[in-house]
Amino acid sequence: MELRYADFATRAVHAGRADFASLGVHAPPLDLSTTYPFTDLGVATDSLDTLVGGDATAPNPVYARLYNPTVGRFEEALAELEGAEEAVAFASGMAALTAVLMAVRQDGGHVVGVRPIYGTADHLISSGLLGLDVTWTEADAVAEAIRPDTSLVIIETPANPTLALVDIEAVVAQADDVPVLVDSTFATPVLQRPLAHGAALVLHSATKFLGGHGDVIAGVVATGEAWARRLRQVRVATGGLLHPLAAYLLHRGLPTLALRVERAQATAQALAERLASHERVASVHYPSLPGGDPHGLVGRQMAGPGSILAFEVVGGYEAATDVLRAVRLMTPAVSLGSTDTLIQHPAGLTHRVVDASDRKANGISDGLLRVSVGLEAAADLWADLAFALAAVGIGGDGRLGNAQGEVPLCRSVPRPSVIAD
Ligand SMILES: *Cc1c(COP(=O)(O)O)cnc(C)c1O
Repeated sequence: MELRYADFATRAVHAGRADFASLGVHAPPLDLSTTYPFTDLGVATDSLDTLVGGDATAPNPVYARLYNPTVGRFEEALAELEGAEEAVAFASGMAALTAVLMAVRQDGGHVVGVRPIYGTADHLISSGLLGLDVTWTEADAVAEAIRPDTSLVIIETPANPTLALVDIEAVVAQADDVPVLVDSTFATPVLQRPLAHGAALVLHSATKFLGGHGDVIAGVVATGEAWARRLRQVRVATGGLLHPLAAYLLHRGLPTLALRVERAQATAQALAERLASHERVASVHYPSLPGGDPHGLVGRQMAGPGSILAFEVVGGYEAATDVLRAVRLMTPAVSLGSTDTLIQHPAGLTHRVVDASDRKANGISDGLLRVSVGLEAAADLWADLAFALAAVGIGGDGRLGNAQGEVPLCRSVPRPSVIAD
């Protein structure tokens, strides 16, 4: 699709709203119908045939597993923001990946993957659940891993949780005519548009930044018309649908996506710099820090380093546990891309399903913590982190005041600024 407006922010505000004027509405209508009455059986039959065959729309939607207009508007918006012909939304990021993998099975059962990727995605591909054979390799060795039955190359950039960046164009060149899927969840279309670099498919866990408020589980794939058709065929058959209310919330969040991503990124940059010089931090993973972008991709492939960072605490697992106990403003929780700052332990949670030896080989150590920076003020977040790092090794639960029964009502109760930062 031709990008109609030069500026992303403008498109994000207006995408997927083309029919509002004719409908006479200013917010997307939320259509919760499960079935759609027909007046003419012939029209309904033809509509059913075209939707089952993978068409995006039909004169009569027939049944909500085949089509929903609220979901359709979000898909149209996301496609525009990714510079894609089409987008297909699913119940979750994993449902979206499953649909892609089911579609590619018909082309051959071999997938090439570059680690690390999201833990459950790694597990889904490696486990044999979908009957796929996988070769895990390095980003610069993709060409050697391709076989005649290779039907997909899958990469994630920035990668979860190490923030390793993969050069999409270099992988596409090696993959030759094998389609490349990029999980671009960490980047969002604000910072990175993989299709412009030759990828065939862009996947988002829309649960993260696209939803942005921690209240929607969703997935979406932006791609060309032929792929979208195949994905809709799988979706109609398997039912991994995005609920219309979730689509409504996702669409509602798009106008503020660029603002949220840019603000969180500026804060992440400040935190990453301070962490890098902290005595209790062994290393910081963040693309714009020295060594974080060996291929020079920030500026070329990504508009900025993003708002996720990871750091290794001196003292390994015990120290990481102490930090998680001591934070009060940051929320210890998995997931990312929300308005509030989330901190979690990849080896113990998101990447627990990955074999310990594979985790280690890919830099997911026991002292690694991942932070998804939210929209709080940078100074407050730094005070929280500095306090938590100071609490390492002290023991107890690290929370001041608990001994007196003064359990904070809210994790964000301000604490006295006795902590040198
Ligand atoms: C969360 C996540 C997924 C999985 O998405 P769900 O919406 O949780 O199913 C896939 N890839 C990345 C990079 C993620 O962060």
